[in-house]
Amino acid sequence: MPIFLTPILDACRPQQIQRAGELIRQGGLVAFPTETVYGLGALGLNEVSVGKIFAAKDRPAHNPLILHVEHKNQAALLFNFDACADPVSARALFEKLSDAFWPGPLTMVCYKKDHIPDIVTAGSSKVAVRVPSHPVALALLQYVQAPVAAPSANASSRPSATTAAHVQHTLDGKLDAILDGGPCQHGLESTVIDISQNPPQLLRMGAISLETILNIEPKTTWRPIGLATHEATGSPGLVCKHYAPQIEKIELVESTKIQNFWLSQASILLRQSTADQLDQQAGQRLKSTVTITLPDDPILYAQKLYAALYDLEQSKTPWLVIEKIPAYDTQNLWLSILDRLARASSLDP
Ligand code: AMP
Ligand code: MG
Repeated sequence: MPIFLTPILDACRPQQIQRAGELIRQGGLVAFPTETVYGLGALGLNEVSVGKIFAAKDRPAHNPLILHVEHKNQAALLFNFDACADPVSARALFEKLSDAFWPGPLTMVCYKKDHIPDIVTAGSSKVAVRVPSHPVALALLQYVQAPVAAPSANASSRPSATTAAHVQHTLDGKLDAILDGGPCQHGLESTVIDISQNPPQLLRMGAISLETILNIEPKTTWRPIGLATHEATGSPGLVCKHYAPQIEKIELVESTKIQNFWLSQASILLRQSTADQLDQQAGQRLKSTVTITLPDDPILYAQKLYAALYDLEQSKTPWLVIEKIPAYDTQNLWLSILDRLARASSLDP
């Protein structure tokens, strides 16, 4: 049994949530569950505490953090709507999107108030803010009584953590506690939207599908998924390799071409229906190979994706082939999932 350095707190016990809150208030680092993925939380308006997040994750200083608050009124206090070209429409967008999606997995980006340290926004004049819906995250925010900066609780560039064990796997010894609230509901990071301009611009596909956003705000602009430059996306975290397990060679292969690898030594991550089809058409895979299947339903696929990537990492496979999910339409989460798969399998820029 490995010996872990960071204590685990049990989110079923209110006193332990309170303890996690105290640690954050004292300037510490605590991982906590949200409905998307685990967050690595620290006092968001305190430069020293925020600095600890970057150090623990080894996160590049150019990648800004999302501030988490308990209520939309607190979010409004962090935004400087008056700095927008059209403050009235920015405020209206804020009201509309917060009414539709908060608490929940939508992050809004807008011009920041001066009291927000530059380290949080990586020097940008805009800040990202979200009101999570996870009851443990909300209880924690209530104890802290201040905005909590919280990127995903994993070492930089690795898959996001969706369980306390996965936080431990890449960050043990680098934070003050892990508040264990069980596995995360969505398993995908929040959808990020810039509301400082009209129409708003979708910066990151995420747990709320593009179609759901378009239903509420049909004029929202968005870019195709995959790697892009910071200038192109306005969202620094989209530039680099991300969500990647430590595996030497990772390939993203069209569903129709997975067959070419079926009888090879590669480990394969694919949908259940594709695996069933190949079992019938191409026969059973070699016993020495690793095959991980994920559900055909995108909501369930997303929930299990990062855990599967960590399992594959732990299998010590040197070669992983991932089925490239066809992004048929915008009606579900496949676009967000495809974005993560593309970056998990990309080369460092
Ligand atoms: P993480 O919390 O690790 O999932 O990453 C947060 C992501 O939110 C960043 O990588 C950016 O893509 C986006 N983000 C955070 N703050 C800003 C900001 N000020 N402007 C634009 N995008 C942001
Ligand atoms: Mg992250």
